[in-house]
Amino acid sequence: MTLAEPMANKPTDTHGIRDVAVVGGGLAGLSAACALVESGYRVHLVERRPYVGGRASSYEHPGTGEVVDNCQHVLLGCCTNLIAFYKQLGVADRIRWFDRIAFLEPGGRKSLLRPGSLPAPLHNAFSFLRSSTLSLTDKFAISRGMMSFLRGVPADGGENFAAWLARHGQTRRAIDRFWNPVLASALNEDLDRVSVHYAAMVFRTSFMQSAQAGWMGVPTIPLSELYSHAVGFIQSHGGEVGLRKSVDSFQYDEGSRRWRIGDEDGSVEADAVVLAVPFESMQKLLPLLPASPGPASASLAEKLGHFQHSPITGIHLWFDRRITDLEHAVLLDTTIQWMYNKTLLQPQRRSDDAGSYLELVVSASKSLVPLSRQEILDLALRELAEFFPVVREAKLLKAAVVKEVRATFSVSPGLDAYRPGPVTAWRGIFLAGDWTATGWPSTMEGAVRSGYLAAEALTEADGNPRKYLRPDLPAQGLMRLFQ
Ligand SMILES: Cc1cc2nc3c(=O)[nH]c(=O)nc-3n(C[C@H](O)[C@H](O)[C@H](O)COP(=O)(O)OP(=O)(O)OC[C@H]3O[C@@H](n4cnc5c(N)ncnc54)[C@H](O)[C@@H]3O)c2cc1C
Repeated sequence: MTLAEPMANKPTDTHGIRDVAVVGGGLAGLSAACALVESGYRVHLVERRPYVGGRASSYEHPGTGEVVDNCQHVLLGCCTNLIAFYKQLGVADRIRWFDRIAFLEPGGRKSLLRPGSLPAPLHNAFSFLRSSTLSLTDKFAISRGMMSFLRGVPADGGENFAAWLARHGQTRRAIDRFWNPVLASALNEDLDRVSVHYAAMVFRTSFMQSAQAGWMGVPTIPLSELYSHAVGFIQSHGGEVGLRKSVDSFQYDEGSRRWRIGDEDGSVEADAVVLAVPFESMQKLLPLLPASPGPASASLAEKLGHFQHSPITGIHLWFDRRITDLEHAVLLDTTIQWMYNKTLLQPQRRSDDAGSYLELVVSASKSLVPLSRQEILDLALRELAEFFPVVREAKLLKAAVVKEVRATFSVSPGLDAYRPGPVTAWRGIFLAGDWTATGWPSTMEGAVRSGYLAAEALTEADGNPRKYLRPDLPAQGLMRLFQ
């Protein structure tokens, strides 16, 4: 068999895998590496940055000297694989869980969405009906819309969610104050650019299945500190982690059936390789893989062409005084969408002085990308003061604006047809990354799922199949009737 013989969707014939190289130290690479190293493989992970975590990382911001998260990252109770990964690393207690979300209107009026005593999917019904942000007509429209997901998540028929909302008689305010805020943060895209399938999945999986599925988890330590535990885990199981190593060559030896992957300083030899890089990096690595790619690799190149990025902007503000006692809130009717009170969320940031550190997150922030740092700060401060008037008197001590232009990929209608599985045309090469076929949008949970799927495919190709993927949370209450 030649190296590049197309074998898409069939496990590659790689019996006898001992050494595994993992390229990419984001959550996809880390979760694959931790799963494999715990199963006895000798794992060597290489990451081009000086730290792990990939897009979910923190670093010392040069302008402020503060350690900032690349952006606030949150998870939900339904992220069963990510939570299992935290347990494996011993950091599950570094996630603080909230069962309620505050929605703030300009002027400061607050509505809480929180579970009550009714069975799922009605657990949020009391707080939803009491909410002052929506009229009775809006609430009726939303309930009707949600009920249409009772029987399941619709298949991706090519329709976008904005069209679906119009077709299902949703009011302007229901869209602006409910559907859009929830989906912008979950899918990081405008409503006319997301598939009905993924929009429905967000509501059914996190809002309807059970109260626990919708809990929001927030890390209490900076992201790189959280994920550095994975490095310790890999090393304590005999694996190696090489930082500042950007893989730029691949050689395959037919005799030994081993790969040699290189960066400018050296190379790593392995029986199998997990490529856990984002789709734009995969586009660059693809031409470096050995020549004579079969149709399957050509089709991988074609598939990669269907992915598009969507940006997120994080606005970090340090004030000389307390701005709010809320830990986090959705900010309605403004460009800024979420407020996270980092002083309260990350205990190590609390100090004796009365100051506070807030992070504002703007998802699908295309309108902010062309603006200057100062323009974004002016806009953010003006809008924040609409919710917390104290901002007008407070002194802004320092600020950082982090535009992540390549934050996530868009789950546009029809995209799933182009998301590849972990098995490739090359013997011993497996794919991971949030963009691969996980059934999840671009999230930490999707990345960990992809790592586990790649590890499963590798063990299967090794004749030693193992399961790493965790089951979804069970449905509760009346939702058990709709599975
Ligand atoms: C601003 C922002 C906010 C977000 N908010 C959330 C959120 O609240 N909740 C949530 O669940 N998700 C969120 N996400 C999405 C989440 O961060 C990603 O889906 C997830 O981290 C992707 O993990 P990954 O391992 O697939 O890719 P990445 O994290 O991109 O990791 C890939 C790694 O590969 C490395 N690499 C690339 N090329 C090479 C090479 N040639 N050699 C060596 N290494 C290489 C990169 O340096 C990188 O570290 C957010 C993302 C961003 C950017």
